[in-house]
Amino acid sequence: MYNTSSKDDQLKFDAKDKNETIGIPVVYVLKPAAQKYFSDASASLDIKLKVDIGEKKRTGHNVIGYIENGAATTVILGAHFDHLGYGEDGNSMLRTGEHLIHNGADDNASGTAALIELARLLKESKLNKNNYLFIAFSGEELGLFGSKYFADNPTINLSSVNYMINLDMVGRLNDSTKVLTIGGYGTSPEWASLINLKSKKSPFVIKIDS
Ligand SMILES: [Zn+2]
Repeated sequence: MYNTSSKDDQLKFDAKDKNETIGIPVVYVLKPAAQKYFSDASASLDIKLKVDIGEKKRTGHNVIGYIENGAATTVILGAHFDHLGYGEDGNSMLRTGEHLIHNGADDNASGTAALIELARLLKESKLNKNNYLFIAFSGEELGLFGSKYFADNPTINLSSVNYMINLDMVGRLNDSTKVLTIGGYGTSPEWASLINLKSKKSPFVIKIDS
């Protein structure tokens, strides 16, 4: 492809572009190259191109725990445990270019810690009307890969799942506003009867975002 207009279309190759690939290589000729090699518009040229396309594979691991209570239904509790590494995927908000590890204390060591603590509390509790499946997901930041893998390859019969609660960034409760945001409120009519948005007794100010 070559843009004959005088307007610069600012096309740039983006290795992190998450759009679906089209299966054929597309070669875009920039203006300086066109001027250098294709100055004669009437010429017929025999062009040989070497295109090297490869997939980069990385492996992540979900970590799963299960409390079997012999119940017919199972509750899934989850949190992703990956963060941004050294920001090598271009998703860091650090703009200084320093090579620093992103530990992700809030996003999502906080959810992971809450998940581990919930597992301990539920193991010690007498709550046995559900089985409990705990999943620490990997690959969330790159596009929910861990949870997608589990949904495609579940370790239990998904029709027995009562509900799922995902814990994300639960470590930064504002001391004065005490806002707790709940996503997925609309995914079941049951949530409306369980989550009282106007309750004065709640230690949180509940906000729903979907
Ligand atoms: Zn997160």
